[in-house]
Amino acid sequence: MNLPEAAPTRMLLDGQWTGGAGTFPVLNPSTGEPITHVPRASTDDVARAIDAAAQAQAEWAARPPRERAEVLRRAFELTVAHQDELALVMALEMGKTLKDAHSEAAYVGEFFRWFSEEAVRIGGELRRTPSGTNRILTFRKPIGVALLLTPWNFPAAMATRKIAPALAAGCSVVLKPVSDTPLTALLIAKLLQDAGAPPGVVNVLTTDKAGEFVTTALSDARVHKLSFTGSTGVGRTLLKQAADHVLNTSMELGGNGPFIVLEDAELDAAVEGAMLAKPRNGGQACTAANRFLVHQSVADEFAQRLAARMGALRIGPGTDPATELGPMINARAVDGIADKVDRSVAVGARAVIGAARLDRSGFFYPATVLTDVPRDSAMATEEIFGPVAPIIPVKDDEDAVKLANATEFGLTSYVYGSLARGLRVAERLEVGMVGLNRGLVSDPAALRGREGVRTGMRRRLRRHRRLPGNHLRGDRLVV
Ligand code: NAD
Repeated sequence: MNLPEAAPTRMLLDGQWTGGAGTFPVLNPSTGEPITHVPRASTDDVARAIDAAAQAQAEWAARPPRERAEVLRRAFELTVAHQDELALVMALEMGKTLKDAHSEAAYVGEFFRWFSEEAVRIGGELRRTPSGTNRILTFRKPIGVALLLTPWNFPAAMATRKIAPALAAGCSVVLKPVSDTPLTALLIAKLLQDAGAPPGVVNVLTTDKAGEFVTTALSDARVHKLSFTGSTGVGRTLLKQAADHVLNTSMELGGNGPFIVLEDAELDAAVEGAMLAKPRNGGQACTAANRFLVHQSVADEFAQRLAARMGALRIGPGTDPATELGPMINARAVDGIADKVDRSVAVGARAVIGAARLDRSGFFYPATVLTDVPRDSAMATEEIFGPVAPIIPVKDDEDAVKLANATEFGLTSYVYGSLARGLRVAERLEVGMVGLNRGLVSDPAALRGREGVRTGMRRRLRRHRRLPGNHLRGDRLVV
């Protein structure tokens, strides 16, 4: 399957499609072969992109919110019209199934639509001082140029989740997608350009030298915001770098999502939910269920039913419409999953299905269900990012809550059980999101307000205003 003709393979810099200093290959994870090559941005390109973004930002911010909203609305309409191309590019370069790719493309459109609606509702606040003699007016203003760094697992949604609120707020952006999946971001840049985003407002640069790129960009004082989605390790490094520049950051990092099945859960529903929370996107989601904490009275039954469903998934290239489980992103990812499975089996976990590498080209790992997984094994403590479901039997609700919270991650969780009992368990979980009798929790509208924090690191949760406040600063005026 070839790249659609409309898909750009050059960078978007100040409204121009441009090359860089050399190129690097983009691999198809279903085959391990290159799809195409894209430019490697030079340090000059980084400076030019920031120049362009800084120049364009003031004029963009000065536009009436309604005009910014209309650009985003057109972007929504274009993503709907080009959903097939967008899905195909994602299936090609990321390996996700066409079904998952179409769902992501639809989800992408929702970010543009939601923030086209939010762009016209940027408010402020009026309060009285405690003495009652003064008034405090808080205005919201765009923060300026935002540097956006995105991961490969949802190459379209992670980009638009950052671009749409930034543009709504009146910011301009320099986006650097991860080198595994640059093509989706370039196609999104084209849709935004076609939607009327002015030159310089959206710049997308590609590189396989992320460290160099980011160090250059962060040392430019005109960058006022760093928005990063990716692994906790890289996030930690970036926070340190950002601190040197006293930079505003948003960090969306890794997860170790517990999927709790209570004694009184409907097992059919729980298995159905697990099929959404686990093998979707090959298990490569920050919101994926990482550990299944199942009441001991139903753990075996749950394991058997989940194994039957996951074992029946048809493995193949993302672009084949019959495929239900695509490849992992790269060889390193397969090695990492195999290593965690092997280490867990070595300390007592039992494989119900899978747990052995596949002998085929491309970066595949089979659907795997493990039971009797030790609580301190790699499976239970590290982010898996693959189609592996480790099942840990728990004694009671108390045991489930304690185990669920025994992690440094606090991103997503799932609870299956009766409403009253499920709610009681849900409110004790130290996480940003809980799916109660639901295996899918993401929704653009959930990004609103102070509670939508998804840094993924419970102990370091920062309660920041997500969106569009994410890209706004508050100016206080005492009158
Ligand atoms: P990653 O951390 O390897 O890369 C993410 C981004 O950081 C990419 O753009 C990459 O080029 C850049 N990067 C990598 N190394 C860098 C360095 N040394 N300096 C500067 N930039 C660097 O993450 P990934 O493997 O692409 O994505 C998977 C991770 O993302 C998982 O941990 C997953 O949980 C997380 N994730 C989180 C969310 C969320 O909303 N919390 C959403 C999706 C993915």
